[in-house]
Amino acid sequence: MPVKDNLNHIKSGLPAGVELVAVSKTHSAEKILEAYEIGHRIFGENRIQELKEKKEALPEDIQWHFIGSLQTNKVKYIAPYISLIHSGDSARLLQTIQKEAVKNSRSIDVLLEVHIAEEESKQGWHEDELIAYLRSGGHRELPNVGIRGVMGMATFTDDNAQIRREFKNLKEIFDKLKTEFFSSNDRFNIISMGMSGDYGIAIECGSNMVRVGSSIFGERYYK
Ligand SMILES: *Cc1c(COP(=O)(O)O)cnc(C)c1O
Repeated sequence: MPVKDNLNHIKSGLPAGVELVAVSKTHSAEKILEAYEIGHRIFGENRIQELKEKKEALPEDIQWHFIGSLQTNKVKYIAPYISLIHSGDSARLLQTIQKEAVKNSRSIDVLLEVHIAEEESKQGWHEDELIAYLRSGGHRELPNVGIRGVMGMATFTDDNAQIRREFKNLKEIFDKLKTEFFSSNDRFNIISMGMSGDYGIAIECGSNMVRVGSSIFGERYYK
C-alpha cells in the first residue's frame, strides 16, 4: 500500500496522546515527502550521514528524531537541529550532548534508553546503573539537556507474553524514575516503546511514543 494509506491507517488506530515517529531509515526522501504531504512531521533516523542528506533535501519544519546508537564523536553533526535523541545510553554521551548543546546555544531533548530485552546486544542502561547515575546527581550537571523520559526495545521474539513483560518493566522503571528524580519536572513525560511488530502491546503497557518504520514505508533493504 502507498505510504499515505499506511500512515493514515496507523494514525487512525492510535489512541489520543500517543505520538507517532515515522521511522524512515533506508527509505528515500520522496517517500518521506509522501508522509509530509499529509501532515506528518516527526521522522526517525539512525545514521548520521543519511540523516544529514535527508535534512538538507527536505522541508525545514520536519522534526528529526535520532533513534540509533550514537557515538560521542558524532553528536556534533546533529546537535544544531535534532529535536529528540532517543538513545541517551551513557553518562559520557549525555555529557557530550550537553557540550554540543552549549556550542549551539540551545537545549537538546533526550530520552534515557533502558535495556529491557533479554538479548545482550541491545543498547541501553541497565536499571541499576541508571539509578546509581541519577542518585549521584550526574544529570543535574546538564542544564542544556532536557531529559524527557525513557526509551526501550523489547526482545525480537514471537512470544507476546515476553514482550509485554518487558514493556511493563519499562513503564515501571519510568514511574520509579519519575517519582524519585523527576517529580517536579513536567517535561519528563515520554515513554518511547513499540515498533511495527509490537506497538499495540506497547501502547497497552503505557507507551506514549511509538517508532514505526516498515508498516509505513515497507520493507528495508540495507546497502
Ligand atoms: C528501525 C527501528 C524502528 C522501526 O522498526 P520497524 O520494525 O520497521 O517499525 C524503531 N526503533 C528503532 C530504535 C529502530 O532502529
